[in-house]
Amino acid sequence: MSYKVYLDPGHGGIDPGAEGCGKKESACALAVARKVMALLPGRYFEARMSRNSQNIPDNNHPNSDLNRRAREANNWGATIFVSIHLNAGGGTGAETYCAVCGGQSRVLARDIQSQVQAATGIKAHGDPVKTDNIRGAAGDYLCVIRETAMPAVLHECCFIDSAADMARFNPDRWALGIANGICKYFGVPLLSSRGASATYPEKICDTTKDMDMSRLSVYQVRTFHGAQLSSGNSQIALVIPRTSDLWFVVAVGNSGQSAGIYTTLPGKKAVKTFTVKIK
Ligand SMILES: [Zn+2]
Repeated sequence: MSYKVYLDPGHGGIDPGAEGCGKKESACALAVARKVMALLPGRYFEARMSRNSQNIPDNNHPNSDLNRRAREANNWGATIFVSIHLNAGGGTGAETYCAVCGGQSRVLARDIQSQVQAATGIKAHGDPVKTDNIRGAAGDYLCVIRETAMPAVLHECCFIDSAADMARFNPDRWALGIANGICKYFGVPLLSSRGASATYPEKICDTTKDMDMSRLSVYQVRTFHGAQLSSGNSQIALVIPRTSDLWFVVAVGNSGQSAGIYTTLPGKKAVKTFTVKIK
């Protein structure tokens, strides 16, 4: 069984969200969500997005689309709901909203917030984890937290109107932090203890050819179903499971270092399959 993660890049349609530093919140949030989607290990997670373009089902009514997102996650039976936004209004840092009642929503918010801070180096904006019940609502003000039937959070990556925050803003890093927060919440191994840049795979390689890799580049490797891919030295090349037969190899060592990558078939000894050399 896999956990169902509903990713919700905020805004869309005629609603760009906040704007600042020449960027639109709706586009930045989508960039992060797409990368989270690509990073979540497929052997543990199934992920869906509330939108995968700037369009929403009814572009002219972004407000009623919030209920559509919550309903969709409820009908799908999502295990968790993660909304991704950028803040505005004169501040700096990241923050994560959880449900007023706390519970698992608070645990998830804490895990995402702490992993984002670790992956990006950004500071928290005031209290790292907050609730929003102040704008005249009895319970949760945020629709996607109030109307969802599973632990839900809303992460504000940073302030789009802060030049300092936007100089730091990098969708790869935020995606790594959010994906790791989700992994941590479910007790799934984190994607990289060294905070490697979560770039999309550049190439799909075959599994027998030695590879010269730039530091922090990522290759996607396909193995036989049921085979385990492992690294002889995870300080140099990190192997991350994606699905039962797909793996990411991330070059995390320094120039000139090399590490063997091994394949293990069930009941067999590990066999060295290829060598990764850091360029
Ligand atoms: Zn927003």
